[in-house]
Amino acid sequence: MTLVYQSTRDENNKVTASQAILQGLATDGGLFTPLTTPEVTLDFDHLKDASYQEVAKLVLSAFLDDFTEEELDYCITNAYDDKFDTATIAPVVKLQNHYNLELFHGSTIAFKDMALSILPYLLTTSAKKQGVDNKIVILTATSGDTGKAAMAGFADVPETEIIVFYPKDGVSKIQELQMTTQAGANTHVIAIDGNFDDAQTNVKRMFNDVDLREKLLTHHMQFSSANSMNIGRLVPQVVYYVYAYAQLVKAGHIKNGDKVNFTVPTGNFGNILAAYYAGQIGVPVGKIICASNENNVLTDFFATGTYDKKRDFKVTTSPSMDILVSSNLERLIFHLLGNDAVKTKELMDALVTKGEYTLADADKGILDLFAAGFATEDETAAEIKRVYEEDKYIEDPHTAVASTVYEAYVQKTDDHTPTVIASTASPYKFPRVAVSAVTGKDSGDDFKAVEDLHQLSGVDIPAAVDGLERAEVRHKTVVAAADMQKAVESYLGV
Ligand SMILES: *Cc1c(COP(=O)(O)O)cnc(C)c1O
Repeated sequence: MTLVYQSTRDENNKVTASQAILQGLATDGGLFTPLTTPEVTLDFDHLKDASYQEVAKLVLSAFLDDFTEEELDYCITNAYDDKFDTATIAPVVKLQNHYNLELFHGSTIAFKDMALSILPYLLTTSAKKQGVDNKIVILTATSGDTGKAAMAGFADVPETEIIVFYPKDGVSKIQELQMTTQAGANTHVIAIDGNFDDAQTNVKRMFNDVDLREKLLTHHMQFSSANSMNIGRLVPQVVYYVYAYAQLVKAGHIKNGDKVNFTVPTGNFGNILAAYYAGQIGVPVGKIICASNENNVLTDFFATGTYDKKRDFKVTTSPSMDILVSSNLERLIFHLLGNDAVKTKELMDALVTKGEYTLADADKGILDLFAAGFATEDETAAEIKRVYEEDKYIEDPHTAVASTVYEAYVQKTDDHTPTVIASTASPYKFPRVAVSAVTGKDSGDDFKAVEDLHQLSGVDIPAAVDGLERAEVRHKTVVAAADMQKAVESYLGV
């Protein structure tokens, strides 16, 4: 039987996994979501000796069950190769109070690499399976990190082009250099005179422009999106929770069958939803702890059952969690409403029209699987210092938000279940914040901070930032926001 993916907003919109990946978002605005839990046997006495790629094969074949074994092998071997700086891909590190699952060993040293290194292959394979032989063109507006991770994933993947727009004055020097030095004949980076919203708005307009779509089709091309609502980004994230559990069994930290908690620093609710699915398919999960920064809309949601986005947006030192509308939460809502698309759509419409929605008491049951909390900026910095002093290990600010929330959770509940924190970025991605949290002193600039961080932690400087100052800048185009489409047409030769 093939697993059915259905839009969260229309029960008549049902597709297979490969159709869901190719479409990305459902045309009704909903998210494709599995209607049943995939059948898979997780035998950790055996899995503890499996490689990351083998665990990936097991999990992906359960969720993406219209892919053949050969197709999955092709995707997995091309994704999880020496782009990662460790053969274990996602190592588990033991600290005094918790385990860190390091999800930052890929090309851009943050956890988006875990999914974006396989998405291009899942996407092109899905296109082939659906009889589509157009070249896939990815258009993305980025405020810094996702664009780079998407490019690193798509670079030189056959039958794809990727065009990334970023606001000229809206990204850090390191972020800009990471993008403008990107290799790959099919990668294109364009700075715009404008802000992130201008970039985003124009990308959306191009996606919906019927004439442009026709024009691309006559040249055997079509647009697609790599955004985090694509099921092709969610499913690969389930893999590392299974793998983490297997690693704990292997190291003798837990016995097969023991429960573990997962704490996840959350923005769009993608990573944490993957932990939920890992529990659904059989990983013995105790609590899933949702950690937010000062943009604590999710903390309030789990406490009250009301999701209220009407609040000030705060800029924090964990920018990838600065989010007021967590798109992937819609999938959890859909499940807790008993996969009811009509009710889900009502709530999501209310979020747009009224800025909030409230769950009925009867629907809150699933929320008991979760705990939630948030960390202030000061608490986050103090936690980086605390962990450094106890473990000689430096966490990035996102991981430290999770670690703060976890410490408070233990204080409050006395729940000492072994806990894995999803460590979503290398401290080398945020070196100034990490160094000043530990030393109380600002390094002055990012590159100096990289040196300082190396001195403090003794951890090798990753290739993603090492030598970046001297790398060749390959992408120099700057256009006005109004000329973005012209730039796309010129790159694609249409
Ligand atoms: C994207 C990101 C997050 C948030 O992940 P979601 O899946 O959006 O919840 C957390 N930390 C880092 C470093 C990220 O890049």
